[in-house]
Amino acid sequence: MESCSARPRISHQLWGRELAKILIVEDNALNIKLFCDLLAAHGHEPKAVTDSRNAIEAARELSPDLVITDIQLPHVSGLDLIRLIRADEKLAEVPIMAVTAYSAHGDEERIRSAGAQAYVSKPISVVKFAQTVDELLAGKHQPVTQES
Ligand code: MN
Repeated sequence: MESCSARPRISHQLWGRELAKILIVEDNALNIKLFCDLLAAHGHEPKAVTDSRNAIEAARELSPDLVITDIQLPHVSGLDLIRLIRADEKLAEVPIMAVTAYSAHGDEERIRSAGAQAYVSKPISVVKFAQTVDELLAGKHQPVTQES
């Protein structure tokens, strides 16, 4: 797990917004940089893992307020990772935002039924990305409806 923000965590709130520990699971270095820079610019504390096989362990260690995961990942796919998080005793309740390069028909439903509350398609809109992060941290999204 790489710490990808230079800024130390100084307080829990900044201009009334909740600052958060955010775990990013993404195999593309440019996207990691983009997401980390965006989140750090909003005062959050982002950490990143590039190998999804390490994601559960990293999440258990970090206890993140939000997980942002790519869907197209080698080894453990984003959908499988979402299901693993939902099945994990310690992580089951953490909000998950999926990021996906292909918005094929039915993708959103698959992502949501795996247990993610929100998804943003790539190339990301910076505004939509930041807004969705804020909403998830504020608990404004529907609770998870897991497939049974
Ligand atoms: Mn990918």
